[in-house]
Amino acid sequence: MVTAVILAAGVGKRMNRKMAKQYIEINDKPILYYTIKAFEDSTVDEIVIVCGKNDIEYVKNEIVIKYGLKKVINIVAGGKERFDSSYNGIKASHKSEYVLIHDGARPCISSAKISEIASAVREYKACILGVPVKDTIKITDSEGNVANTPDRNSMWQIQTPQAFEKKTLTEAYEKMYESSTIGITDDSMVMEKYSNIPVKVIMGEYENIKVTTPEDLQYIKEFLV
Ligand code: C5P
Repeated sequence: MVTAVILAAGVGKRMNRKMAKQYIEINDKPILYYTIKAFEDSTVDEIVIVCGKNDIEYVKNEIVIKYGLKKVINIVAGGKERFDSSYNGIKASHKSEYVLIHDGARPCISSAKISEIASAVREYKACILGVPVKDTIKITDSEGNVANTPDRNSMWQIQTPQAFEKKTLTEAYEKMYESSTIGITDDSMVMEKYSNIPVKVIMGEYENIKVTTPEDLQYIKEFLV
C-alpha cells in the first residue's frame, strides 16, 4: 500500500496574497485540485491531505467532494513548520507501507512521474525527485561575497514527491523530535540525518515547479490547461 501525503498547510508569504497560494484559482479550479488530481490518476493507493485546521471543511467540500476525488481517505490539520505537517500526514496514513510526500503547491507534477517514484521506493526505501541545476551555484559568506563554487555536475535541485518506507521515516522523525529540528526543510533531510538508508535521487521534471511568487501563476496557468 502506497499513500501520498499532500501538504497544503502553509501560508505562502512570498505570494503577497491574503489567500494561501494552494487555494488560488487557475482556470477556475484551485491549485490544490490539480495537485490532488495528478495523484488520483497515478498508481498510488490513497491520499492524505494536510491543510490548515480552519480549511478542512473547505478542502473536503469544495475540492474533494466537488471534483469526485475518490482516493482521498483523510484530511488532517497541519503544524507550525512543514516537517510538523509532514509528520501529521504520515501518522494519518494508517495502513500504508510506503509514503510519498508532496508539496500541495506543485500542481504540475505528472501522474507518470508519481507512479515511477511509487514503484522505485520499493527498491530504494528512500528516493526523491530532482533535476540537474542549470545555473552555476555559489555559496556566499556573511558579507555577500563568494565563499566557494561547488562542482555543478554533482548539484541537483530537489523537488517533491519524496518517497520513503514509512516505518523507517517514522523512526527518523521520532529521533529528530528527540534531538533537533533546526534547519530541516524537507523530508529527505530527516532521513539523511536520522537514518542509515541512502536517499536515491531520481530524475524529476523541470515543469514541476513549486508555486512561490506571483510570476509562477502565469506559468502554471499556461501549463494547466
Ligand atoms: O513554504 P513552502 O513553499 O516551502 O511550503 C512547501 C509546502 O509545504 C506547501 O505546499 C505548503 O502548503 C506546505 N506547508 C505545510 N505546513 C507548513 C508549512 C508549509 O503543509 N507549516
